[in-house]
Amino acid sequence: MIRYSLICNKDHEFDGWFAGSDAFDKQVRRGLVDCPVCGSAKVQKALMTPGVPVKSNRKALAEPVKALHAPADPKVHEMIEMVRKLREHVETNADYVGDRFAEEARRIHYGEKDPRGIYGEATIEDAVELHEEGIDVLPLPKLPDEAN
Ligand SMILES: [Zn+2]
Repeated sequence: MIRYSLICNKDHEFDGWFAGSDAFDKQVRRGLVDCPVCGSAKVQKALMTPGVPVKSNRKALAEPVKALHAPADPKVHEMIEMVRKLREHVETNADYVGDRFAEEARRIHYGEKDPRGIYGEATIEDAVELHEEGIDVLPLPKLPDEAN
């Protein structure tokens, strides 16, 4: 059995189980699969989330960040402490360049400036562009008690 996410011609989404993709095609052609909401037999497979084409990666980056709430998990507290240390290390060993981050990262990458660690404000678009130019940038994780 195989499960398909289906959508009717009126945009109702629902799931259906079929013996296989051939069985699905045959049943749809015969009008045997209908929408549980409106009864329409004009149904097709909805786009599956895991098969997102590469081109939409950019869009995926703009999606909301994952959030966690685990107040009683000691491991989580340990890791938050590690993030805090990472931030401290960055703040003592790299130069803060504010919103000139993308510009400075490029200058360093293209040899216009001496290599050094920098950190600053970058938009997701900046980060994607830098990455496409072969410049590695790392998002610094935010701590829960930090405002934006
Ligand atoms: Zn429908």
